[in-house]
Amino acid sequence: MLPRHVIVVGAGAAGVTAALRAAQAGARVTLLNAHPRVGLKILMSGGTRCNVTHREVTERDFHGGSPNVVRRVLRAFTPEQTRRWFEEELGVALKLEESGKYFPVSDDAQTVLDALLAACERAGVALRSGARVVRLVRAGDAWRAGVQHVRGSVEFGEGVAPAGQSSWPLPAVEPEEWLEADAVVLASGGLSFPRTGSDGTGYALALALGHTLVPTVPALTPLVAVDPLCHSAQGVTLETELALWVDGRVAERVTGSLLFAHFGVTGPAALDLSRHWHGAEGHARRVTMSFLPGLSLEAIEREWVAYAEANPRRGARTWLGERLPERIADVLTSESGLGGAAMSQVPRERRSKLLRGLLERDLGVTGTLGYEKAEVTAGVVLLAEVDASTLESLVAPGLWLCGEILDVEGRLGGFNFQWSWSSGTVAGRAAAT
Ligand SMILES: Cc1cc2nc3c(=O)[nH]c(=O)nc-3n(C[C@H](O)[C@H](O)[C@H](O)COP(=O)(O)OP(=O)(O)OC[C@H]3O[C@@H](n4cnc5c(N)ncnc54)[C@H](O)[C@@H]3O)c2cc1C
Repeated sequence: MLPRHVIVVGAGAAGVTAALRAAQAGARVTLLNAHPRVGLKILMSGGTRCNVTHREVTERDFHGGSPNVVRRVLRAFTPEQTRRWFEEELGVALKLEESGKYFPVSDDAQTVLDALLAACERAGVALRSGARVVRLVRAGDAWRAGVQHVRGSVEFGEGVAPAGQSSWPLPAVEPEEWLEADAVVLASGGLSFPRTGSDGTGYALALALGHTLVPTVPALTPLVAVDPLCHSAQGVTLETELALWVDGRVAERVTGSLLFAHFGVTGPAALDLSRHWHGAEGHARRVTMSFLPGLSLEAIEREWVAYAEANPRRGARTWLGERLPERIADVLTSESGLGGAAMSQVPRERRSKLLRGLLERDLGVTGTLGYEKAEVTAGVVLLAEVDASTLESLVAPGLWLCGEILDVEGRLGGFNFQWSWSSGTVAGRAAAT
């Protein structure tokens, strides 16, 4: 009997994993990638170091569809198995950093991509880059995939849909070639960095087959802000707690480091908050930051009073400078107008105003840098429409989905790749049998 032919659409982290798993399970696998270059997102990930996973990954690290489904998929191929897979099978030595993130010892994402592609080659996966699937048609028990040949430099992502869109037309181009398969794995990714080839075509394919799309928003994308600190403290990083206020109430809090940049703020805390910012579109939103995460106003006031008693002639600038980066202490001192005043002389109201500003400074966030700079896309194919143990489509049997195309997105720290490795493994193995 001929082996089952599996077509995998998309050679990103999820698609490469699915192709490898399907081939290892005995299928004949064709891996099609729209972009002429494969694995671009792997190469740009983690500041080109590729943060492959995290010390601890649970369903609580993800947003989107049912946590139960995410848990099942993560349990089917755990972070521990992922680490062994990298080290023992792919030959990529990993190191654990203090933050809990795993990176290749080489600090080079190319090591990860090369190892994955070499494993695919050994397993007999036929990789075709510059092959963009523009139609997927069920033909009896089999599938027909209509392919457009992508030559030279192509402008992917022209006309990327605005945030919130849930309807996608199929590309207007006619297929130049039709391929037949027994099973199809759709791993065409999200919308972020559309020039890598992730331009939403996969959504149109899923939609045309009857799937429901959860409206997309960019996630893990920097925040645009008008706080003067963005200019004066540009390049400064500090630990912070950000709060997103929606209609006057705190809707979300995230802690982590924050980096001031010319356009606003970035770094893990800002990136993690961005999906919530977009999720609250249409409401009154603002973002405040605490320079002293974990401390209450009462605790800082007590600290101030004790410090002022012990050092009656010292000024607010000295006190701030002992707690905050110098440039930030300078700006806050000048904003407060307390430059020369001894702390013990500062009137209570002015002290409270300064201290409240340390805990709840409005960053003047006006938006985000969107898909162009987003690490992931929130939303997309409804998770309830796939089988939780195999990731096979419940509306189009014979189709499997994995990776970012599903309505699952993780926080910053290697969680999104873990989702790709786990879901790719589950889908690839199931599609092969
Ligand atoms: C700058 C950046 C840094 C990141 N850093 C990290 C990190 O350090 N750690 C982490 O966990 N996550 C990180 N991420 C997120 C992570 O890269 C993604 O979650 C992950 O790559 C998603 O994998 P995927 O295979 O689902 O999709 P993708 O990687 O987007 O791959 C999809 C592939 O499908 C192809 N394709 C699309 N449509 C078609 C079609 N119609 N026909 C054929 N092929 C098609 C595309 O060309 C593309 O190669 C980062 C993302 C970015 C953008």
